[in-house]
Amino acid sequence: MSERSDILYFDNNATTQIDPQVVEEMLPFLREQYGNPSSAYRLAKTVRAAIETARERVAALLGCEPSEIIFTSCGTESTNAAIHSALRMDRDRQHIVTTRVEHSATLKTCEGLAKRGHAITWLGVNSDGQIDLGELERAITDETALVSIMWANNETGVVFPVDEIARIVREKGAVFHTDAVQTIGKIPVKLADMPVSFLSLSGHKLHAPKGVGVLYASRRVKYAPFITGGSQENGRRAGTENVTHIVALGKACEIAAKNIEHEATAVRAMRDAFENGVLAAIPGAIVNGDRVNRLPNTTSIAFPGVESEAMLMLLDQRGICCSAGSACTTGQHEPSHVLRAMGCDDTRARGTLRFSFGRFNTMEQVSQALAVLPEVVEKIRRVNG
Ligand SMILES: *Cc1c(COP(=O)(O)O)cnc(C)c1O
Repeated sequence: MSERSDILYFDNNATTQIDPQVVEEMLPFLREQYGNPSSAYRLAKTVRAAIETARERVAALLGCEPSEIIFTSCGTESTNAAIHSALRMDRDRQHIVTTRVEHSATLKTCEGLAKRGHAITWLGVNSDGQIDLGELERAITDETALVSIMWANNETGVVFPVDEIARIVREKGAVFHTDAVQTIGKIPVKLADMPVSFLSLSGHKLHAPKGVGVLYASRRVKYAPFITGGSQENGRRAGTENVTHIVALGKACEIAAKNIEHEATAVRAMRDAFENGVLAAIPGAIVNGDRVNRLPNTTSIAFPGVESEAMLMLLDQRGICCSAGSACTTGQHEPSHVLRAMGCDDTRARGTLRFSFGRFNTMEQVSQALAVLPEVVEKIRRVNG
């Protein structure tokens, strides 16, 4: 598998290239290892063993027990499952606390619950994209079933102090779920030392394929399955296992665990070189959000007054993939809910681009992009007059 030399891919928070070693690991399970892991013969046992190896690899990256790993179809399913389970534990606890900057997996699910009568507390953020821990503490009551707060934001890369959040939630006796889809593989985690009840992760954000995820369910928390049927995943997630993708995710986690420190340093250097280059070359450019407590791979940069849609189009023509600070739903460009929650005005939110770097980027690519971006912004500014 070769790299695409025509593309500068800086959208690793949207999805990542599958690592070639991961593809290799999958191939036997697409060809000869087709047994159903629930069957009794040897053909199936090899497949079952491969799932358990994958489970151990994921657990090693998360610093938890393999028995706490449930394979799912994606990060979104994991998050839905955690929320669903927490609400089924105690009829008197039906309140949810979350934030205004969550991924749509949490956001839309909680909006749906609100329509069906659940009380939801939406925590706001400051201009750095950070929540107020005092406000969090005050929001949790005897009726709170679940606190769901993402670990790192997909749009800005802002990292929440999940250690402290988890401790506050535990003291209040509620269940804590964190959407760690953007965190896993980028910053080291050790769940054994943290009072986290549930955590979601997704394969395609860490160089495994799309369509596989994990729900970490702490052995200290009760869990009610989201998808019921067969007894797969120890009765916690029914449906015949997506063996190739589970094997892939295991391999991706093994690679991530081995490289995490080194990779974070290399990726951070590329992100910083890019960010500093942009700030130096483009008048008026500003970084959105907390630059200290931030993922090493992400930068969200506003070019106030320059429409991100126009920039995306011109950058695409030059082979650069990144994304806008707005969600395009059926052709309507709504300013991002994350930037809005941070108090960004419309011109800033509509002029924001997110660049997210990864394992397969190079400094050479950063230089190539830095040679293009100022010209593109200048061109649009000229047209706008
Ligand atoms: C991508 C993403 C998800 C969704 O994961 P899928 O596997 O695509 O469902 C959830 N949360 C965050 C923060 C993400 O970046």
